[in-house]
Amino acid sequence: MKILVLGGGIAGLTTAHTVLERGYNAVTLMAAAWPPDIVSSVAAAVWYPYKVDHPDVSAWGRASFARFAEFAATEPASGVRMVRGVEYRNADDTQAPAWASAVEEFQILRGEAVPPPFQSAFSFRVPIIETPRYLAWLRQRVEKGGANFIERHVDSLAEIADEYEAIFNCTGLGARALVGDETLYPIRGQIVKLAAGGDDGFHLVQEEHESTNSTYIIPRSDGVICGGTAEPNVWATDIDEAISTGILARAVALRPELAARPVLETRVGLRPARPTVRLEVERLRDCVLCHNYGHGGAGVTLSWGCAAAIVDQFEDAIG
Ligand SMILES: Cc1cc2nc3c(=O)[nH]c(=O)nc-3n(C[C@H](O)[C@H](O)[C@H](O)COP(=O)(O)OP(=O)(O)OC[C@H]3O[C@@H](n4cnc5c(N)ncnc54)[C@H](O)[C@@H]3O)c2cc1C
Repeated sequence: MKILVLGGGIAGLTTAHTVLERGYNAVTLMAAAWPPDIVSSVAAAVWYPYKVDHPDVSAWGRASFARFAEFAATEPASGVRMVRGVEYRNADDTQAPAWASAVEEFQILRGEAVPPPFQSAFSFRVPIIETPRYLAWLRQRVEKGGANFIERHVDSLAEIADEYEAIFNCTGLGARALVGDETLYPIRGQIVKLAAGGDDGFHLVQEEHESTNSTYIIPRSDGVICGGTAEPNVWATDIDEAISTGILARAVALRPELAARPVLETRVGLRPARPTVRLEVERLRDCVLCHNYGHGGAGVTLSWGCAAAIVDQFEDAIG
């Protein structure tokens, strides 16, 4: 079958990889833009189901976790590592969150184990996916699997539907214009990358209700990512210096040693948010159209689970 995967981000690359793994070989990957110029390259990325909704989030997250843990153990070039870290909480939480059973070494910390001003914390071990390295590595695997790569902006799926027997639509926020999906909206995120300094674990802070601040510190091999923001319906992609100042102040409050580190890079990305992830198959003339977009703040976290699920749906549709 002649198959097109539209979108060169985490969703498109993972879907293309999955299609190739299932034995389809006439696979083309087409995108208007590629890493590092897309939101997938901005993601920190830590495995964590954030700003996303769908009844299958747990199952998709679990499947992706298993795959990333395997890469961490066997593929050092992938840029995936298992890292232990902490999420600080503003209330004295005694109940584990829904995702706790998917992660390793989950513990609730209370009392003296928790630094002020926080009242409790979750400690756990998850994959950290260094997206610049990981996306390049994943692309290489898809290339080795035999896929063709085309750079092209597509105005409408009808324009290309007769050229392929199946199209996987992995266009993220681009699907809003491409298929007229007005339920898709951006959640703007800004991050600051500081120089590395032997950082061990990750640090997350539970988001305050209604706040657009989202505070986290994620260590990478070549730096440390300090976040961030989560501003719904904000389309601006220029860097806001006042936001960077706030991000650094919050990071230093958590880890004072970061104050002396030089800034390496500041980036902005728009998370493709939707009331629920769209994983659906329909027909466009003779073409089987498979949608895989709208992963919000969890596109990396859910990538392998969603790719497997949409390819399953595709195979059910073709019988
Ligand atoms: C600051 C920040 C931190 C984040 N941290 C995390 C994290 O720690 N963990 C996590 O899981 N997620 C994280 N995310 C979310 C994650 O980045 C997204 O969920 C994910 O990257 C979405 O991937 P995607 O492939 O769907 O979209 P994209 O990366 O946007 O890729 C879409 C692709 O489709 C192409 N395209 C779109 N429209 C068209 C068209 N009409 N024609 C041709 N091509 C088209 C684009 O060119 C691009 O190649 C973070 C996001 C931000 C902003």
